[in-house]
Amino acid sequence: METLRFDAVVIGGGEAGLAAAVKAAELGARVGLIESSSQLGGACVATGTLPSKTFSISTGMFETIKKAKSFGVRIDGPVSLDFQEVVASRNRLMKCDIGVIQSHLRSRKVTLVSGRAAFAAPDRIRVARADGTEAVIESSRTIVAAGSHPIHLPVLPVDGATVITTDEIVALASCPPRIVIIGAGIIGCEYAFIFRTFGADVTLIEKTGRALPGQDKDVVAAVEKELKRRGVALRFGTSVSACAAGLEGGRLVTTESGETFAADLVLTCVGRRPSTEDLGLEAPGVAVGGRGEIIVDECLETTGTGIFAAGDVLGRRMQSSTAILEGAVAAENALGGSRTIDERFVPGGIYTQPEIGSVGLTEDEAAAKGIPLIVGVCPYASLVKACSLQTFNPGFIKMLFDPSSHKLIGAHILGPESAEIIHNLVVAMRTGATAEDFVYSIYHHPSLSEGFREAARDALSKI
Ligand SMILES: Cc1cc2nc3c(=O)[nH]c(=O)nc-3n(C[C@H](O)[C@H](O)[C@H](O)COP(=O)(O)OP(=O)(O)OC[C@H]3O[C@@H](n4cnc5c(N)ncnc54)[C@H](O)[C@@H]3O)c2cc1C
Repeated sequence: METLRFDAVVIGGGEAGLAAAVKAAELGARVGLIESSSQLGGACVATGTLPSKTFSISTGMFETIKKAKSFGVRIDGPVSLDFQEVVASRNRLMKCDIGVIQSHLRSRKVTLVSGRAAFAAPDRIRVARADGTEAVIESSRTIVAAGSHPIHLPVLPVDGATVITTDEIVALASCPPRIVIIGAGIIGCEYAFIFRTFGADVTLIEKTGRALPGQDKDVVAAVEKELKRRGVALRFGTSVSACAAGLEGGRLVTTESGETFAADLVLTCVGRRPSTEDLGLEAPGVAVGGRGEIIVDECLETTGTGIFAAGDVLGRRMQSSTAILEGAVAAENALGGSRTIDERFVPGGIYTQPEIGSVGLTEDEAAAKGIPLIVGVCPYASLVKACSLQTFNPGFIKMLFDPSSHKLIGAHILGPESAEIIHNLVVAMRTGATAEDFVYSIYHHPSLSEGFREAARDALSKI
């Protein structure tokens, strides 16, 4: 059996693992990166962020082009959205991204070890290769970044053809005419807009009474209204009780409220679980929680000697953005650092149509924690730039301030490029900006960012 030795080894070649491998190599370590899939990039590149965002961008662009006439742009001839062409564009992007990843690893001399890793001891990892052979990796420092996988509900057995998760969306060759989506969280809502724009009849079933748990209540109300306006059937406050074979190879989905929906495709988006079951974490004494998440301290160190963890295996936010920083910090700490991450200012970006950007507290969270606040709102209908983009309805910037210090403590934006412009407010929160700072800053006119001044003015007028 082949034995390989490294200064540091990383399990998993997704966003967290890649960031860890690159950082460790930059710090001078000889690094081995173990990946079980034939392709690097993890969920972000293969099944998650990149594929869903390609669909969101193409369908969003199609919606804008449909409004071309009202901008004075004449399109002679029909405009259509081609599923296969969007898939081809997504595949090109994936290829390009994987090429970039490979070149980053090559230039830092990271050794890629293909196969499935499992601990045999704190400093020994067995790697089962696809050809049936095994290798042993020895290293006194390991970063576990094995990611997560979609949760499967017993009532909805995934067959990969008529009942799928986001893992299988990448294999779709066309958009089925009738789609039932289970779960109105971020991913379920994003795909409801996407498939509806491709012309499918979409039904969105959600166990709780509302979409997008954890998001601002006015943002959620506007997104639900927009889903309905576009013809997505919402069935909230009920869950699926049965999923039987239907006519012509489809499915019949029955809800606890007694309704039945015929579907050509059922997409389950009911959350993800850390992929920690087969890592042999007992051998090095790495503790896991009830959801399979790896327990770490503030430096991302696990209870196993020399073993750190990052990304979705921690079962926290499950975002590429946090996974990337956690990977780099875990690697730095594995090699002797003691860096911690300030997670108070993590931006959220949701690619519904319109887009959502958020940071900090929501009004509901503040109320639950007894935190006082003043709320300022700028409706996009009052901004020249938003009106000229014809995207003012629905759309707004909501900012939450501390009533005594006037510091920004939360912000929620609905409208074009929200996931971009939210970063202004991330920096503002980090640096302790007050409502007065927003009111007396100069903004380019016309711009969407002028809404920061107007929302802050609205808040100050209420004090
Ligand atoms: C549909 C969808 C849309 C999303 N959109 C966004 C978005 O817009 N923005 C955002 O920030 N996040 C988004 N996310 C979340 C984001 O994709 C994940 O948070 C991120 O990919 C997590 O990275 P990771 O490295 O922790 O794990 P993963 O990407 O899951 O990577 C883990 C890697 O480890 C490998 N592995 C697992 N076990 C082993 C083993 N035993 N041995 C060797 N290798 C192993 C896996 O093959 C995989 O390559 C989305 C997710 C989904 C599903």
